[in-house]
Amino acid sequence: MKFCSSCGAPVTHEIPDGDNRHRHICGSCDEIHYKNPNVVVGVIAEWQGKIILCRRAIEPRIGYWTMPAGYLEINESTDEGAAREAEEEAGIDVEIGDLLTLINIPQIGQVQMIYQGTLRSPDFEAGIESLEVKLVTEDEIPWDDLAFPTVKISLEHYYASRRAGEFSLHTQVLRR
Ligand SMILES: [Zn+2]
Repeated sequence: MKFCSSCGAPVTHEIPDGDNRHRHICGSCDEIHYKNPNVVVGVIAEWQGKIILCRRAIEPRIGYWTMPAGYLEINESTDEGAAREAEEEAGIDVEIGDLLTLINIPQIGQVQMIYQGTLRSPDFEAGIESLEVKLVTEDEIPWDDLAFPTVKISLEHYYASRRAGEFSLHTQVLRR
């Protein structure tokens, strides 16, 4: 950040009084611009034993596969955000179920929450952020062409839970 998003004046990067981290501080209106982690929400959505995967139409990792997922918006809960991302990216109507994975990625300031869910109908359609959407069996998962490590972790936990007959929560911290 170079300029204040409130008043447009140049910002400095320093530790505010009473704080212990560097922040961007406006030299004109004194606003302190905090930068905090983002929450990513997504869903592994099932229909008759198959799940929905999307091939990404946007960077990063364009052309690689993921479950529908994206940034949580202001004014929505995490399950609402997961359902919205599923609608936007895969054109699906999904009933959100149990939380499957909670993955922290501290170095990029991200917390990912991936749910399990069930399609209310088998209709799907690629949204503008997807090149392609499909329903796949476990054997058809493109394990070598998944977009992110968190996708692999979530899918592995999903199938392990399904085999165990019960969805449980898997938590993990990813560090480089
Ligand atoms: Zn300002």
